[in-house]
Amino acid sequence: MIPVIAIDGPSASGKGTVAQRVAQRLGFHYLDSGALYRLTALAVARQGLEEAGEEILGHLTARLPVEFVGNDIRLAGEVVTEAIRTEDCGHLASRLSTFPAVRSALLERQRNFLRAPGLVADGRDMGSVVFPQALLKVFLTATPEVRAERRFNQLISKGVNVIMADVVRDLRDRDERDRTRAVAPLDPTGALILDTSALSIDQAMAQILAWYSMNARHEG
Ligand code: C5P
Repeated sequence: MIPVIAIDGPSASGKGTVAQRVAQRLGFHYLDSGALYRLTALAVARQGLEEAGEEILGHLTARLPVEFVGNDIRLAGEVVTEAIRTEDCGHLASRLSTFPAVRSALLERQRNFLRAPGLVADGRDMGSVVFPQALLKVFLTATPEVRAERRFNQLISKGVNVIMADVVRDLRDRDERDRTRAVAPLDPTGALILDTSALSIDQAMAQILAWYSMNARHEG
């Protein structure tokens, strides 16, 4: 069985950075599942289908011409690695992710990332739905204040003009939607909770690696 480390958690909890570092350290593949939701959002926006019904959105999602090549993410051949990171794309991704047809269209695509020697997958439902067999399930979180500050700094460093109050409101809305949606809501049940509010990236990574080697020893 190929080992999976599932890292779920709310927006701006730092899970993307930590998950990538853990994957690098172990020589595992990495799945940024949020990128698939964001790619779906970008494709929907470009086709002006924001108000389309669930069936149409499900069809479009199932046929997304997506490629992950090295660090590049491509949509129909075009590099969209940066384009999918905008706040607008995140908003629409969050809204589309409440549709069961969109989620199920992305399920196989996510599972296809599972290859030897192992996978680190980050998202909202990696441990609960996509990889329930994961050897380690981590719920990475941080206080709303710390997450808002991280997101704010991230946006400012990208040259985006934002005010803190908007960032706080946006995170709160997105958390609420991710937690309360009917399908695959964000839920820490069954995962080891890691609060990174007072931890550096290296400390968070070290904790996950320690948990992983403990579980791997048990398994082996
Ligand atoms: O992680 P990221 O912020 O890039 O994800 C964008 C949106 O996609 C999230 O706000 C969430 O609503 C959705 N998502 C999801 N399930 C995942 C990953 C992301 O519903 N596994």
